[in-house]
Amino acid sequence: MAFRTVLIANRGEIALRVIRACRALGLRAVAVCSEADRGGTWLQAADDAVCIGPAPASRSYLDIGALLLAAEVAGADAIHPGYGFLAENGDFAEAVERAGLTLIGPAAETIRLMGDKIRAKEAMRAAGVPCVPGSDGALPLDAAVCAQLAARVGYPVIVKAAGGGGGRGMRVVRGPDELATAIATTREEAVRAFANPDLYIEKFLEHPRHIEIQVLCDHHGGALWLGERDCSVQRRHQKVIEEAPAPGIPRAQIAELGERCAAACRAIGYRGAGTFEFLYEDGTFAFIEINTRIQVEHTVTEETTGLDIVREQIRVAMGEPLLLSQRDVVCRGHAIECRINAEHGFSGRPSPGRVIRWHAPGGPGIRVDSHMAPGAEVPPHYDSLIAKIVTSGTDRAQCIARMKAALAELQVEGIDVNAELHRFVLEDETFEKGGVTIHYLEQRLRRFAEANTGAQS
Ligand code: ADP
Repeated sequence: MAFRTVLIANRGEIALRVIRACRALGLRAVAVCSEADRGGTWLQAADDAVCIGPAPASRSYLDIGALLLAAEVAGADAIHPGYGFLAENGDFAEAVERAGLTLIGPAAETIRLMGDKIRAKEAMRAAGVPCVPGSDGALPLDAAVCAQLAARVGYPVIVKAAGGGGGRGMRVVRGPDELATAIATTREEAVRAFANPDLYIEKFLEHPRHIEIQVLCDHHGGALWLGERDCSVQRRHQKVIEEAPAPGIPRAQIAELGERCAAACRAIGYRGAGTFEFLYEDGTFAFIEINTRIQVEHTVTEETTGLDIVREQIRVAMGEPLLLSQRDVVCRGHAIECRINAEHGFSGRPSPGRVIRWHAPGGPGIRVDSHMAPGAEVPPHYDSLIAKIVTSGTDRAQCIARMKAALAELQVEGIDVNAELHRFVLEDETFEKGGVTIHYLEQRLRRFAEANTGAQS
């Protein structure tokens, strides 16, 4: 299982992040790029780079054959998938295993199990993790039985696709008369987008927070939880700001949940880094899904625990045991991350193009993970995340103050970024108090838009 050369099957900031972790372990790092990314700054940071195909992701970053060929050409014996693209693809994991390479992540069968949200929930319920109440198992085709199930769960409910992801494949149903249509449309989408017709029903929670637990497990039954993250500041189900710890939740309750997650990992033989996602409402946690990969927001946990999670993820993939025990995991102070996206103002519309000027902020408690530089190209083909600004400090107020200073120092020309949106949130009283729900940002933006149109008319 020991390996020397890691192929990074990804691009942008996460490719750079993984290259840095490889360096920290003295491993050779091989980067890949599509034709649109030939000038990518992460390529220079790597020991070697391979172009894997044309700009569309389906023909490059999602092309399993091209990636395996690149690994062979570069003499790689392990592959890090990063996040997005093929990171949670069971077929990819299996192809990597078959080729005799190590995938830096859980086993293919674990990725498949957790990719099926119905089976994942079953496994978690069995392992003692609290879940959102709902239909146990896939919905039957019989409409009358579905109506009974939904009535038992209690309206409003949410119809979700077992294979869903990225905020797609789900529909809120307010009453019995909407159920049949919601099931039919979601099933059609599930077949088309996820090639899996299975659906399930969950109680729709009206005002939850999104809280997640980071785990890290070795191949020897060792499983740690590394604290929680609050990712409730979202827009269109996409996270915008994340922080650790979650404001206002009793530590004992978090610790109990963390222990349950670690126990569930031991029960299912989980390996590597992973995240248990929960909704938190009225003082109760309810599991929604597991992400079997490194996440964008792992950084805030790194800042509060002092651990290099990507380095640890690679080490355990080599078969090495965890060096820490749970007692050694200490979360100190606070950390906040703002996702800097190439977007026009508040609109969320992508703003691809060439970066003419790039000045990243710095100073105590300010970390910037980014592949940007003057002259860097932001292609229109991929995700718009171009940088993560992470501030840390003794408390939340210090993190917010440092973030405001960092955003003021950030200078970007050539493309638009969403810095104004972050400033808008950081200056808002409700956010400042902490503990907002997943609907907070959209509601706040709606009120802002209404007030502005009101002022103009
Ligand atoms: P995906 O894999 O597409 O991200 P998730 O199951 O993680 O899907 O859900 C994504 C988001 O949808 C959650 O963060 C939350 O905002 C919302 N959501 C999911 N399930 C529920 C539910 N039962 N009640 C309320 N909101 C939900």
